[in-house]
Order: sequence, then C-alpha cells, then structure tokens
Amino acid sequence: MNENITRRNALLAQKVIKGLASRNMTGYYAGSREAALRLALALVGEGASVTMGGAMSAHEIGLVDALKAGNYHFIDRDAYEDKRAAMLAAYDADVFLSSANAITEDGQLVNIDGNANRVSAICQGPKKVVFIVGMNKVCPDLDSAMKRARNVAAPINAQRFGLDTPCCKTGSCMDCKSPDTICCQFLITRFSRHKDRIHVILVNDNLGF
Ligand code: SF4
Repeated sequence: MNENITRRNALLAQKVIKGLASRNMTGYYAGSREAALRLALALVGEGASVTMGGAMSAHEIGLVDALKAGNYHFIDRDAYEDKRAAMLAAYDADVFLSSANAITEDGQLVNIDGNANRVSAICQGPKKVVFIVGMNKVCPDLDSAMKRARNVAAPINAQRFGLDTPCCKTGSCMDCKSPDTICCQFLITRFSRHKDRIHVILVNDNLGF
C-alpha cells in the first residue's frame, strides 16, 4: 500500500474507531492483511466455534484457511445440505465473521442482505461478531454509505451469484423488485447494546467490494 494512502488510512481509522467506541463497539486498525489475520485469530480465540456470512474480506486476509487449519470449530455452511440447520448452527456460534458493505466515518455499519442470514446473525445470536473491513469501505456519512452499499457492493454481489437483476446489466442499482434481488434487508448497525460483542478490524487495504 502506498505510504501516503497508509498515512491517510491510519488517521481516518482513528476517527472511525472513536465513532465505534461511542456506539459501544470496539474498533482496531491493522496496517496490513497479515496484522489483520493475527488480530482476528486473537479475537476469535482457540477452541471457539466460528461461522460466517459470505465475508470475502475474511477469505482475502487468509482467515478462513487459518481457522480451518487451526484449533477452531469452523462451522462451514457450504458443507451443510440442510441450509436451515446451517443457519441455526450459526446463531449458536461463539463468533460470527462478517464484512460490511460500508462503514461511516462515525462508526455506523451498513449491510444489505437477500436471505437475511448475515444481517440477522449480526443483530443477535452469536456471542461475538468480528467484522473485517477494508479501508475502501469507509464513507463520509450514512447517505454515502447507503449509496455505496446499493451501487457498488450489491451489484457486484448480484453478479457474483449470477442473478437475474437489472444491476447485473447496468452496473448500478435500479431499485428493483426482481425475484432475484439481493436487496431485501438493509441493516444499519448504529449501536450495540451488548458491550464487547461487536469488534471491527479496519484493514489498510482494499478488501471485498
Ligand atoms: S435493488 Fe435490485 S437493481 Fe438494486 S442493487 Fe439490489 S438487486 Fe441490484
């Protein structure tokens, strides 16, 4: 990462971390993917049951491979034939891993979901939620964060899953009500009532989309 971008990210991350603290959530800044991996593994803790909701960023820092190889109980939802059983197992996990579609400079997390498995687990169930968030997801305010989630993250995710939605043809959100839409639920995590439940690792890199 370019040193000027790194300097800017380190400064901006402190603002986001302060915002998270004001919302009863804990933020951390990792200067590299490797540092983010070490931090995430420490937050998960050996022996913990862990699951996730399609977090590309967790894959990109090597976290999923490390959890599978290490002394952790990784609940792999792709290994479940019964998707409902996978969903219920996720709610009972010690740790849920997620990324965010966007995060505001004052610490609000924005996530869009189709099936709601991810946003519901963020809201409640798992004892701890660990977000891995590249600094490319930081937006000045809630309005720009929602726009990023709808016009950047959602269309790319729709393409990733090969869905038949207008954004797959136009590249931006057309506010569709297509049967394939992944924009069913919009979650703004504004505050955590439960201290030490939500942890956000901000990574000095471009992760996910
Ligand atoms: S509402 Fe529809 S068009 Fe807009 S991003 Fe979601 S799936 Fe795409």
